[in-house]
Amino acid sequence: MKIFNTLTRRKEEFVPLEPGKVKMYVCGPTVYNFIHIGNARPMIVFDTVRRYFEYKGYQVNYVSNFTDVDDKIIKKAIEEGVDSEVVSRRYIEECRKDMAGMNVKPATSHPQATLEIDGMLEMIQVLIQKGHAYAAQDGTVYFRTASFKDYGKLSHKNLDELQSGFREIKVTGEEGKEDPSDFVLWKPKKEGEPYWESPWCQGRPGWHIECSVMAKKYLGDQIDIHAGGEDLIFPHHENEIAQSEAANGKPFATYWMHNAFLNIDNNGHVQKMSKSLGNFFTVREISERYDLQVLRFFMLSAHYRSPLNFSAELIEASKNGLERILTAADRLRDARKIALGREQEEAGANQGAEENKTGKHTQEEQAHMAAAKELSTKYEAAMEDDFNTADAVSAVFELVKLCNSTVSGDSSVAYIDFMKELLERLCDVLGIVAGRKEELLDDEIEAMIQARQQARKEKNFALADEIRGKLLNMGIVLEDTREGVKWKKA
Ligand code: AMP
Ligand code: ZN
Repeated sequence: MKIFNTLTRRKEEFVPLEPGKVKMYVCGPTVYNFIHIGNARPMIVFDTVRRYFEYKGYQVNYVSNFTDVDDKIIKKAIEEGVDSEVVSRRYIEECRKDMAGMNVKPATSHPQATLEIDGMLEMIQVLIQKGHAYAAQDGTVYFRTASFKDYGKLSHKNLDELQSGFREIKVTGEEGKEDPSDFVLWKPKKEGEPYWESPWCQGRPGWHIECSVMAKKYLGDQIDIHAGGEDLIFPHHENEIAQSEAANGKPFATYWMHNAFLNIDNNGHVQKMSKSLGNFFTVREISERYDLQVLRFFMLSAHYRSPLNFSAELIEASKNGLERILTAADRLRDARKIALGREQEEAGANQGAEENKTGKHTQEEQAHMAAAKELSTKYEAAMEDDFNTADAVSAVFELVKLCNSTVSGDSSVAYIDFMKELLERLCDVLGIVAGRKEELLDDEIEAMIQARQQARKEKNFALADEIRGKLLNMGIVLEDTREGVKWKKA
């Protein structure tokens, strides 16, 4: 398996620290609002990476944090006149809902920065003891970048250039810095801000130290993969490396993976989607118009290191593409029902006789199965090549074509099952539920119809109508017939 490593700027063979295991840390969102679809890109991409490792038999320890103390959270809390914890708790909950909608698996651990302050104080103390950090007069603690010889190795920046660059920008309140490129580990509280006691001042941690500490606590000093959006390469990840390696005395992450931006075309002017530019769609907004599987499918239609432009046309195209897969899965399920009925009938007719398979049919099916296996190999080869989901999706479409042209009610159940399981498995690695959702939905519809019948029995017509309305919203039309309630898709 090859992974593009930002650290070496090369695709490298994946070699885990421990055989059969993957330790992975993905920087999570700052929770002060609903997540936008730019934030969703790393969630979907790295969840897919995780799923592929699991498909290959690896045990993945996947850690992704919530940054729940930050200027933006505090600002929002002040605006609302509530504690910043109220804001962060609310948006963590909403983020979890969005993740579930996008079929992003919950992480093995989802640590929150505010619950890990002790670990941060400890790491900062170690850094001070080792001469990598110092406290200024006002109680701010800074990391001494000049003390870490590898500073700049991830972003491929040179410390001298960085220093002269920083010298141009004088920031008030940072007079206590020894060097302009030093960065904050701990800062004094301001009026009305949340704070914690520390040996240096009442205050709160800097953003970078949070991730170094949470990665250490939940995964250990050394991890396999550290990931996030490409805007995090500098300074966030560069600073994480400096802190972790200086404190722990070991290389931090073997592979650094970064997704490219999700952009938006603003009258021919392509921009990164971001909250500060105000050009974003939240995942919640998209969910009002599309099943979030469509959003997931859209994200995976491009390679994660290529910029991706969001547009109404492209999301529509993804909707249609996904529909093709789901329709194929429906057809497989329908064909299976017919084939099963036929085979059971044949078995009944031939009771006691040797099973009489039509040789020609089976041979043909075997050839198709071999072709399907080749597509599965093609799919894996794409994923092994730095998670090229775009090519993997193409292989899925080829499989869909093969299913559509070769599966019918006349096929053998064994053949249909083979194709159905393969299609479902390959989709599942991408986090796309092929088929099963529809089956679930059928059960849900039946349950709702039962509830409506019960309501009518109890003469609760308002409730009965409400349920009918809900079903209608889901595109289900009810028909009251003498044989009972029938339903069909509108
Ligand atoms: P934030 O909430 O800004 O800390 O971002 C959370 C994650 O979303 C980080 O990994 C960012 O790099 C990523 N991210 C933010 N905006 C975008 C975007 N427009 N495209 C891709 N990734 C993004
Ligand atoms: Zn981080």
